[in-house]
Amino acid sequence: MSRKTILIVEDEKPIREMVAFALGRAGFEMIEAGDVAEAYEQMSSRLPDLILLDWMLPGASGLELARRLKRDELTRDVPIIMLTARGEEEDKVSGLESGADDYVTKPFSPRELLARIKAVLRRAAPDGESGVIEIDGLVLDPSSHRVMANETPLDMGPTEFRLLEFFMTHPERVYSRAQLLDRIWGRNAYVEERTVDVHILRLRKALSVQSFDAMIQTVRGVGYRFSSKV
Ligand code: CA
Repeated sequence: MSRKTILIVEDEKPIREMVAFALGRAGFEMIEAGDVAEAYEQMSSRLPDLILLDWMLPGASGLELARRLKRDELTRDVPIIMLTARGEEEDKVSGLESGADDYVTKPFSPRELLARIKAVLRRAAPDGESGVIEIDGLVLDPSSHRVMANETPLDMGPTEFRLLEFFMTHPERVYSRAQLLDRIWGRNAYVEERTVDVHILRLRKALSVQSFDAMIQTVRGVGYRFSSKV
């Protein structure tokens, strides 16, 4: 199983640390934020696979953040579990209406939280998403983080891997450098567009070992496209 990243947005430090510790031990990569601004800052460098969102936060509420995330095309598909101290049914209803995928009422046990997280992640992953992608002899396995070309393992860095995974799940479509930055690096990342070119170059180099580099095509004046029709 690939390591999933979970962002916890919670202003109460003891709860945040307890959750981060328990989920870290369960194999998740944890990102922590104490408020909405920090949450956005964290998400600008990398989108998490799931967000644990406290209802009561200083400043903007967790509910408001959930609404904003679900309205944004970039973050719409990231599942959200609301953490709420309130047991009121109407709060749970408005939480779910805001776009949250589930809620857990405090106090909760790490075991209960873990079970809910796994259920939400299972629902969020469409069939095949966690499975192996194969296009014309190029095989990418997200669970083992391996790429094989003509049954030969290819060596590449994590950014090149994410780029390739994005391309292979979105083939035959042109993406601008700005779009690739959004999708791979996250919106608001402090990365220049030519960084994309650098990683494309590295990705091509990794693929060239088995002459698969032509699959990454430059579309002049627009950006890049992954195509098996070479
Ligand atoms: Ca709180």
